[in-house]
Amino acid sequence: MIRPILIHPDPRLKKQCDPIREITADLRRLASDMLETMYDAPGIGLAAPQVGITKRLIVMDCMKSPDAPRPLILFNPQVTWTSDTLSTYEEGCLSIPEQYADVQRPDRATVTWTDETGTAQEETFEGLWATCVQHEIDHLNGKLFIDYLGLMRRQMITRKMEKLKREIAREGR
Ligand SMILES: [Zn+2]
Repeated sequence: MIRPILIHPDPRLKKQCDPIREITADLRRLASDMLETMYDAPGIGLAAPQVGITKRLIVMDCMKSPDAPRPLILFNPQVTWTSDTLSTYEEGCLSIPEQYADVQRPDRATVTWTDETGTAQEETFEGLWATCVQHEIDHLNGKLFIDYLGLMRRQMITRKMEKLKREIAREGR
C-alpha cells in the first residue's frame, strides 16, 4: 500500500524517533509499504517519520535499476563509524519535493541494524549509499538535509514548501 508522504514543515519530521523493541507483523507491513511508496515516488530512501510513524525504521535502494533492485529494510539503524574523507552530493528529499542542494558528508559509513527477519546486520556503505543512509538516519533524529544549509536558503525552501502545502490543501489532493 502506498502511503502519503508528509511534506516539510511538519512537527512529525522534527521528532526524535522511538527505538523499535520488537519487529511485529505490523512493522513488517509498514516496511513493505514504505518500500512500495519509495519506489513509486520514485526515491532511493524513505524514513518512517516521512509517512507519519515516528519510529526508528528506514528503507532504501540506491541501485536505481528495476532490473537489479536491492531493497534494504533497516530497523534501529545506527552509524558506528564514518570516514574522515567527505563527499558532496546534490541531495533531495521526498518530504521537500523538487528542492536540491549540495550537502557534504563522510563518503563511507558503517551502519548496524536489525533486518526484517530479526537478524543483526552490519555494512560499510560507500558513495551514494553512504549519503543516503546518513540522510535517512538523520530523519530519525528529526534532522533534514536543509538543516545543513545556511539560514537564508533554509528559510527560502521552507517558505516554498508552506506555499506548496497551501496549494495541495486548496486542491484537496
Ligand atoms: Zn529525506
